[in-house]
Amino acid sequence: MIRLPVRSRALAGVLTGLGLLAGCGVPGPGGPPPAGEPAAVAALPADPRSAETALVDSILALMTLDEKVGQLTQMQGRWSETGPTVREGGFDDVRAGRVGSFLGMYGAETTRELQRVATEEARVGIPLLFAHDVIHGFRTIFPVPLAETASWDPVLVERSARIAAVEATAHGLHWTYAPMVDIARDPRWGRVVEGAGEDPYLGSVMAAARVRGFQGGDLTAPTTMLATAKHFVAYGGAEGGRDYNTVDVSDRTLLEVYLPPFRAAVEAGAGSIMAAFNEVAGVPMHANRWLLGDLLREEWGFDGVVVSDYTGIRELLEHGIGADDVEVGVAALRAGVDVDMLSRIYLEDIPQAVRSGRLDEAVVDEAVRRVLHAKARLGLFDDPYRYVDPERERTAPLAAEHVAAARELARESIVLLRNDGTLPLPRDLGTLAVIGALADSARSALGSWAAAGRSEDAVTVLDGIRGAVGPGTRVVYERGAEVRGEDRSGLDAAVRAATEADAVVLVLGESQDMSAEANNRAYLDLPGVQRELAQRVIGTGTPTAVVLMNGRPLAIPWLAEHAGAILEAWYLGVQMGPAVADVLFGDHDPGGKLPVTFPRTVGQVPLYYAHKNTGRPPAEDEKYTSKYIDVPWTPLYPFGHGLSYTTFAYGEPSVSRAVIGPMDSVRVSVEVTNTGDRAGSEVVQLYIRDDVATVTRPVKELRGFRKVRLGPGESRTVTFSLGPDALAFRGPDLEWVVEPGTFTVFVGGSSAETRQARFTVEGS
Ligand code: BGC
Repeated sequence: MIRLPVRSRALAGVLTGLGLLAGCGVPGPGGPPPAGEPAAVAALPADPRSAETALVDSILALMTLDEKVGQLTQMQGRWSETGPTVREGGFDDVRAGRVGSFLGMYGAETTRELQRVATEEARVGIPLLFAHDVIHGFRTIFPVPLAETASWDPVLVERSARIAAVEATAHGLHWTYAPMVDIARDPRWGRVVEGAGEDPYLGSVMAAARVRGFQGGDLTAPTTMLATAKHFVAYGGAEGGRDYNTVDVSDRTLLEVYLPPFRAAVEAGAGSIMAAFNEVAGVPMHANRWLLGDLLREEWGFDGVVVSDYTGIRELLEHGIGADDVEVGVAALRAGVDVDMLSRIYLEDIPQAVRSGRLDEAVVDEAVRRVLHAKARLGLFDDPYRYVDPERERTAPLAAEHVAAARELARESIVLLRNDGTLPLPRDLGTLAVIGALADSARSALGSWAAAGRSEDAVTVLDGIRGAVGPGTRVVYERGAEVRGEDRSGLDAAVRAATEADAVVLVLGESQDMSAEANNRAYLDLPGVQRELAQRVIGTGTPTAVVLMNGRPLAIPWLAEHAGAILEAWYLGVQMGPAVADVLFGDHDPGGKLPVTFPRTVGQVPLYYAHKNTGRPPAEDEKYTSKYIDVPWTPLYPFGHGLSYTTFAYGEPSVSRAVIGPMDSVRVSVEVTNTGDRAGSEVVQLYIRDDVATVTRPVKELRGFRKVRLGPGESRTVTFSLGPDALAFRGPDLEWVVEPGTFTVFVGGSSAETRQARFTVEGS
């Protein structure tokens, strides 16, 4: 037996009734004693899982139907100047058991008071869950997820999520709506910025790293929080790149492309999954019994919480798959959506559906069980206040080591797209002109979904440069042009500044509010008159390094041809300025690689490296092949591309065995040499191709990567192991299979690499 401290009088009563309470007696009418002292002790079975089940079942047994749907209901706070507050009637909802969790409500003081009312004044006394979109940092904002992925460094990415959880939990939060693990192959879609890009393998590695970071090793620890893999599933497949739009993908694409990062998140222990707004092949995800039920619950064994997205349950009405609130509520609950975020349909309509016999109460009970289990896993029944720590709330945000970690990851996230020797900039410049509205935008530095981030915490690119130049360098700043709009009045001054300078840093791109939810674009060029600004500034002949700030791939063929250097800097968070300056002046060697393909023009999209060959592979000099007549079919910058201030040479890859069985592994080795005269890091990438199979296979699929740091002249042999997991695909019947035949492996510094080796799988 284990002894579980029970703080709520009502809950203690419940457990006493069930004979589960032992020890120091039930709390008296004066309420429970101060935090830290158990009010009573429930004696539960020693095995933690059955203890949890016994607890959950005993609570459930004493709940009314209305209290049950209350547990499934998520409400929102009210935003005030000082942060989130409880809206009118909020405490009454808690007292009456009408709410089980809150969205966007945080702050030690507020959450403690809500938790007190929930556990001491509500009849059963079940603690609340506090959820929020803690996406890339809480107060210490890290690079946006797409940028973090460009680091190809899961250790740093895990640490970023860990720090976010440390800061968020200090404010009473238990549950984050991250990681977003949607594969995104259409850069028009605004939410590309929130995920890990186009590739299921890289996406899976990052999904697992983020889950580990948020949840840590022990969910009951006061610094860990439930992670949510979202948006289940295929949200990135929206037609036309228009958010929320129809998705129609084959089962194969679903299984091989969109689902693997979710599977990785579930295997890493993700405590919850969020349903997506979209439909898949005619069935909206909030009512999709096949994907939420058969696949996620039955096949994968996921036993965590499924939460709706925002008003996703109510939106089933617009999808046209239910005539009224009752119908859509029943459809969502039956499909396996446990928590209703903001629709209030479970609260208001499900009791009536049960009472009229349209829904079996057992379906409600299952969902409630999962919510109660989540609360138990977080240790909230032991101590509902364990995530409420005013002292930590004061000291955790922007702690020096958090800010240092943000700078480190920001530097690693920068991708050098092009360089003719303009970078790194010399330290002894007389005048450096910094041009572009984004150079001075702290808000854009933070990026979208910046949780509790504040603009005043962020160091802009301009300030980063000012802080980095030597005493002999004069920095002049001109906005040149705004990000959007037609105003050309600043162009002349920018050109003058460029003409008089020894070098220019030209900061271009999109403001942060041009990506993320609902911010889809039909054009991928630089918005406003920024291209004209670039043409005129670069036209002065002064060496110009372009710094891009953006949340999606941009189509920038003119810059790619004419800028001296281009740094893809995305939105890098609170330490954006220092990180960019570190790279501009060569204190840090850029080593990031693109997690998404950059097209030449929007007309090429969707464009991704792991495409199929077709019967007419593109050949520029043959007409009847799969290409365009007005633009090359190839990308501007391929997936995995990224340069360094040094250069790397690859030897010929070799395989450990020429022939293997289908359940065997083969090792692939390659020697990488730093051929330059400065240290640098390189992401060595391994791709495979199943040359002949019973179904068509992508021309290349990433199956491994390793980031290596090499000194000048240094060589290292990097070895990868490829086993059945890496070689298998879904066969004609959609079951996993490793088929006999040859495999080609490609090893190098980007997906465009052609250096290869081969081996054969024999037998079945
Ligand atoms: C988004 C989710 C987010 C939720 C709660 C929705 O609009 O699609 O990603 O978690 O809002 O803020």
